[in-house]
Amino acid sequence: MKAQPSHERAPVVPMLEIEDLQVVFGYGRSEVRAVRGVSFSVAATESFGLVGESGSGKSTVLRAICGLATKSAGVIRIAGEIVPEPRDRTFARRLQMVFQDPYGSLHPRHTVDRVLSEPLAIHGISDRQERVVQALKDVGLGPAFRFRMPHQLSGGQRQRVAIARALILEPQILLLDEPTSALDASVQAEVLNLLSRLRAEKNLTYVLVSHNLAVVDHMCERLLVMQSGEAIEHLEAAALAGQQVKTDYTRRLLAASEGYDRAAVTSSIAFRPRG
Ligand code: ADP
Ligand code: MG
Repeated sequence: MKAQPSHERAPVVPMLEIEDLQVVFGYGRSEVRAVRGVSFSVAATESFGLVGESGSGKSTVLRAICGLATKSAGVIRIAGEIVPEPRDRTFARRLQMVFQDPYGSLHPRHTVDRVLSEPLAIHGISDRQERVVQALKDVGLGPAFRFRMPHQLSGGQRQRVAIARALILEPQILLLDEPTSALDASVQAEVLNLLSRLRAEKNLTYVLVSHNLAVVDHMCERLLVMQSGEAIEHLEAAALAGQQVKTDYTRRLLAASEGYDRAAVTSSIAFRPRG
């Protein structure tokens, strides 16, 4: 076979593609059209933000991607392949989700060791002890944390464990639903910095949901603004800093994020170079 000339590069397949996603809850008069035809694609190693006011459908988009909500229509592809309904076992090794509430997302009576070992056992992976210790190290926790229970951890430590659990099967994609919103501002900055470092170290692709545009500005290259289940504006994150937004809705979100949140986050987060 003839080698391809080097200037003819193969087209780059996005890591994650969402096409015309629709999610409807309930029937008849109680019907809620939570997601109404949302499309976006995320390149490998990119961090993509989803923003919008409470109830705009951000969490439902993430839940539909990972199969926790049933989509009514639309196509979801990972690396060009349509994800199966229901999700198969290999899916968990490609994509994982981290939830907002580090209190609710860990079983109250399971040790950290059990939380982190279980996915390994389910997937028949050996060297479990070494992997658990390494996963804890990756999120900045020492080996002694293996034997703690969730109530013996701070909010930030719990979210680190939740991140370690999401990464233990070495997925390529993380869906992050308000991963720091339940944390104090200083802890929030630490966890955001951890997520940035992990993305760079492990070449991860992120979809990050936040109601706070300052967080998305720090963490993401591009973002989608949602309102009432619809995609209303695609933006480069750099456009936020320059206030180059197209809709009044986004301008209002930006104004709402300008106050204490932005000050707290920007004062404690290391500058992330763009480019
Ligand atoms: P966001 O994460 O942007 O705050 P959500 O995706 O959680 O918004 O919710 C979008 C809309 O869908 C809201 O009106 C919410 O009440 C509704 N919704 C979410 N989950 C369910 C559900 N399981 N059943 C019925 N309605 C739901
Ligand atoms: Mg939500």
